[in-house]
This record gives sequence, structure tokens and C-alpha cells, in this order.
Amino acid sequence: MDGMNTVGDLFGSGRMFLPQVVKSARVMKKAVAWLMPFIDAEKEKAKREGKSITSNNGKILMATVKGDVHDIGKNIVAVVLQCNNFEVIDMGVMVPAEDILRTAKEQQCDIIGLSGLITPSLDEMVHIAKEMQRQNFTIPIMLGGATTSSIHTAVKIEPEYEHPVIHVSDASRAVGVSQSLLSNTLKADFVKKIADSYQDIRDKRKKKEKKTNQITLAQAQQNKHPTDWTQLAITQPSFLGTKIFLDFPLAELEARIDWGPFFQTWELKGRFPAILDNEKYGTEARKVYQDAKDMLAKIIREKWLTANAIIGLYPANSVNHDDIEIYQDDERHQVLTTAHFIRQQMKKPQGKYNQCLADNIAPKDSGVKDYIGTFAVTTGIGIEQKLAEFEQEHDDYQSIMLKALADRLAEAFAETMHERVRKEYWGYASDEILDNQALITEQYQGIRPAPGYPACPDHTEKALLWELMHVKEKTGIELTSSYAMMPAAAVSGFYFAHPQARYFGTGKIHKDQVEHYAQRKGLSIEKTERWLAPVLSYE
Ligand code: SAH
Repeated sequence: MDGMNTVGDLFGSGRMFLPQVVKSARVMKKAVAWLMPFIDAEKEKAKREGKSITSNNGKILMATVKGDVHDIGKNIVAVVLQCNNFEVIDMGVMVPAEDILRTAKEQQCDIIGLSGLITPSLDEMVHIAKEMQRQNFTIPIMLGGATTSSIHTAVKIEPEYEHPVIHVSDASRAVGVSQSLLSNTLKADFVKKIADSYQDIRDKRKKKEKKTNQITLAQAQQNKHPTDWTQLAITQPSFLGTKIFLDFPLAELEARIDWGPFFQTWELKGRFPAILDNEKYGTEARKVYQDAKDMLAKIIREKWLTANAIIGLYPANSVNHDDIEIYQDDERHQVLTTAHFIRQQMKKPQGKYNQCLADNIAPKDSGVKDYIGTFAVTTGIGIEQKLAEFEQEHDDYQSIMLKALADRLAEAFAETMHERVRKEYWGYASDEILDNQALITEQYQGIRPAPGYPACPDHTEKALLWELMHVKEKTGIELTSSYAMMPAAAVSGFYFAHPQARYFGTGKIHKDQVEHYAQRKGLSIEKTERWLAPVLSYE
């Protein structure tokens, strides 16, 4: 299979692009499937004769950790490794630590590749590293996925395991890393270089920590975004409670797709539509875009996917600065639930505020009747059946394409529902007229922050949305043990109508806020620290 090595090399060196690599994998996989009985027979024969033959560069276990459904990036890495003649054992998504480690032993894997998209997965990776140390594993760990980083790997994971732990930032690097790790001549130098760079990261962080300039939560609350609530026009929604949308027409979503992230998925870097004319990527970008359009037409025509959504509109007021009470009705006596938010604690220059999403809602003691919206949408219902067909065909290209398109449709659905809420159901922007570009660049009044994203980094707040709207029963979207949504092509969050509402990042927060937050949520500090790990300013 020397020819296949060339694919990997061309890709690693930037002369071949990811869509081409993934497409070529189909031919290779079909050939391998056909050859397998012969290879196995040869191996058996060699074994009987007391010889051993290896037919590949090494065996790599790939898994998305427990509680996480991240799939596209992991599958891309798996395909690229396979194209480079590694044997990949893909255990899929939501794989418990004990299953990963048992399989790695049974199958005598050479490397364990772990992937994760949402922040709780970082903690699960720490757990796996600890377990590998305890069970005397010696094989290297490779980590990847949106939530992972060299910093987290260096600070939290690598110190737990005596053997190599390596963060891989994108698919094109996975091949080089795997080759180095499994090479007798390259391994020692490579491992030392990475270990040194992680030590460097830890040292730099220690120095930086001492310098951080944070204010107390109480001070931050005093510097909240000011609103003159007596002057703000608040629109009462056209209804209160929930509204369900089942089998929403996919054709209406196509125009709302933000194509930018689609090209990122395929590791073609650049803005859309300029990328179509990019000197380096243009030709490939056009091809993958055309393939996407063709598949999208089939998805719509043949109804491969079902889109379901639920929205909620409720009376609400902020309480204790950082929380929002959501009420049963406009009498506001019965609290249905309380949403908890994080406030920025970095020292701000004059005229800048320590933001918190709760500042977008009128405080209870102002006496002003304010409202909040909630939503959950998916376009991933039914995807499994189609994916199984592609798997049967060894067609990674179509499988990854479908997942990428389902993700795009889910975001487009979130955009579409948001627009209808603004113009119709809540109606605070009933005369809004924006073209598609203005919608995609979010030039409208109001935001739809999603738990797990920078303005509200706590994924567990999704549970509140699920209970409040009965999301699972009404739409079929489930939450995993780490609060990831299933199907993966889903978006959920809050609607804020405040004219100054903006997306922001909470930045790092101090222990005083963690304690306060834990108390408000009725959770232990330890658990709270685990969920908020990525935004803690301290170890
Ligand atoms: N148009 C883009 C949107 C990506 S962001 C796309 O199609 O991919 C995905 C979702 O995250 C948004 O719809 C919004 O709900 C939420 N979001 C974005 N930035 C956020 C922030 N800073 N804090 C909280 N939620 C955010």
C-alpha cells in the first residue's frame, strides 16, 4: 500500500487538500476490505511458521470520550491516518474510559487517540490519563477536538501520565505525530521536544498567573452594564409558554446557511465566498461546495433529515445581580426556574463594564415587567440511517459531508427561528428588514447565547432549558451525561431582546465567584469547579 502513503504525504505537506484525501479513502477502504481475507490468511500462515508480519504502520484506537458526541473531526483524523496506512479502531462517540482501555489492551493498540468538542470532555480526558497511569499503560495518548488545547494538555493532562501525551491541533498533523511516535529513530527526540514545550507552557503560565488583575465579584457587580429601565421600551411577547415546530421545511433553511464554518470543517481556510476564488484553495473549495449543494438538494428532496424545534417565551426578572427568575405567568408569583450566569471579573478601563447576561433583563426590584426567550432546535433527526448506508459503502466523504451539512442546517434553523421570534412571536422587531448577509453577520437587535459558549460557559444550564420546555419529550433532542446535545446537529439557548445585548466572553473568574455560583446553584464547590474548569483563573 505504498501508493497510500503518498496521499498522506501530499496532504501533510499541503499539496493535497482534505476533501481529496477523504474521497480517495473510499477506494482504499474498498480495496482493503477486498484484500483483508488474503492478508489475514497470510498472517495466519506466517504465525504457523513462527514468523510475524505486519501489514501496517501501527494500530491506533480513536474514540470520542464519554458524554461527548463530537464526531466529524475524529472521523477526519481516522480517515487521514488510514490513508497513511495506519490501522484505526474507531470506537465512535460517548465511549466510557473503561471500554477504551479494555479495547486498547485487547487489540494491542500502539496509540490511543481521544477526541472531544465540549469542555466537560477535558475532565474526562484527565480521568483517562490517570487511569492509564494507574493501570500501567505505556502507549502514547493523542488528543484533539475543539475543546482541547496545548495549554490544557500541558497543565492538566500530561502531568498525570508518565508516557507521551500529545495535543494534535488539526488532522494534517496527526499523521506526522503518529509516525514520529511509532518510529524507533524519531520517537525519543520528538517526545522530548513536545515534553519540553509543555514544560515551557507550564512555566510561562505560572509567571502569568501572578500578574492577573482581577476584581472581586462584588466590585464587578457594581460595575454592571447600566440601563435606565424607566426609559427602555419592552415588548410583551405575542404569547407566553412554548411553541413546538415539528418537521419544519428544510427548504426554508437553505438560504440561511452560513457557509464559512463549512469550509473550516474541510480545513480550507478563508472567508466565504472569497474562498471560492482563492488562489490556493479555490478549485478544491468549489468542488466541495458543489458536492455540498448537490447533497443538500437530495437531503431536502428525499427528506433525509427531520427538523424539530421548540421555543419558549416567559416573564422574567433578574435577581441577585447575576441570576434570572423565569415566571409561570405575568403575575410573576410563581418561579418556574432560575437561570444562573457568570460575570466578567477582569479589571475594566473607565467606561467599560463587567458584563453578565443577567444585565439584559430588568431587575425584580425595578418593578419593570421584562421577558426572556428560550429555544432548542435540531436538524439531525433521522441522520443515523443515512450514515449507516454510507458506512456500509465505506464512503467517509459522504458521511462527513452529511454531518457537516446537518450542522450547518441546525445553525441555519437557529437563525431562522430567531428571526421569527424577533419579528413575530416576541415581536419586538416586527418591522425588521434585513438581507441574508445582515442576518448571518447578526446585525439585528438581540442575541441567542448558548450554554457552553463564552458568555455562559456552564453546559449544565442546558438542563434548565430541557426541564422548562420538556425539550426531550417534545423535540427528541437529548442531553448526554456531559450535557452535549443528541443529535449533534442541534443548538439551544436563551433569547435576549435588550437593544444593547451583545455576545461576549466571561474571561477567567475568581474563586469568590465560583463559591457564590456554587451556593446559588446548590452544588458543591468541587463539582462547580469541574464544570467551570475552563474559566477558572486559578488551579
Ligand atoms: N452563524 C454561525 C454561528 C456560530 S455560533 C454558524 O452558522 O456557525 C453558534 C451559536 O452559539 C450561535 O447561534 C449562538 O447561539 C451562540 N453563541 C455565539 N457566540 C456566543 C457567545 N459569545 N456566548 C454565548 N453564545 C454564543
